[in-house]
Amino acid sequence: MKNQKNKKIVIAHRGASGYLPEHTLPAKAMAYAMGADYLEQDIVLTKDDVPIVIHDIHLETVTDVALKFPKKKRNDGKYYVIDFTFKELQQLNVSERFDPETNEAVFPNRFPAFTSTFKLHSLQEEIEFIQELNKSTEKNIGIYPEIKDPEFHQKEGKDISKIVLEILNNYGYKTKNDPCILQCFDAQELKRIRNELKSELFLVQLMEFKTDEKLEEIAAYADGIGPWYKQIIKGKDKKGNWLISDLVEKAHKLHLKVHAYTFRADQLGDFSSFEDLLQVALYEANVDGVFTDFPDKAIGFVDKKYKN
Ligand code: CA
Repeated sequence: MKNQKNKKIVIAHRGASGYLPEHTLPAKAMAYAMGADYLEQDIVLTKDDVPIVIHDIHLETVTDVALKFPKKKRNDGKYYVIDFTFKELQQLNVSERFDPETNEAVFPNRFPAFTSTFKLHSLQEEIEFIQELNKSTEKNIGIYPEIKDPEFHQKEGKDISKIVLEILNNYGYKTKNDPCILQCFDAQELKRIRNELKSELFLVQLMEFKTDEKLEEIAAYADGIGPWYKQIIKGKDKKGNWLISDLVEKAHKLHLKVHAYTFRADQLGDFSSFEDLLQVALYEANVDGVFTDFPDKAIGFVDKKYKN
């Protein structure tokens, strides 16, 4: 059974993004069908306050915005989601992630860039998509939204957290018992979400690549942490054993869940295989969940361990 106590959870990072362009509904459908426990949504606001599901606050690394709206480029050379209405964004085609300087795909062995037809969509559209699938399949797959760059939104005069919380609430995501985990890198904002905006959702504090975060402080407002896995697995000792930091142990003492990012079968670093990486993270370092671009592989691995 999924979501059983102590069962490791698999979060589809931007959908099944190892196979289809990140954050597109086809990538979400694929991750859903693979049996991920949660599907991730990164959220950025449009000019007319529609939360859309996209990783960056700008558009030129995953869309053809430079071709369709060349005049909307800012001085830094980027095209910002916040400068476009939702209707304008619906005209764009989405591609596998690429380098806008060279047009080369970031992950050359994934779905080819500039192929087929993919579109942007709103948070509401994705929630409805998942909720309808939950009805027809009689499953209870969760959402895992991330509030992107609240400080940037604030400077542009927008309260992204307030807008997103209201939508989540309208779709029935209200408490820790609902299948929704809300994540953010900005600690001040996550604190505000708990204390000022009075959210009772399960909150995860994402962590940057340093390890001096004060876990006690985080535990006062959040339910979990989302560290980079290299904050936990620190390389090998002279004998070839993996060095594991005490971050997970400390977090667990404070009753914080640990969902580490990002597990990629096509970016293994010093690991001999994806299974090796998952084994060390999930069963030696004891993280509770993984964000992965390859949910099928992580689910297969966890299910195999769970049966044994
Ligand atoms: Ca994210």
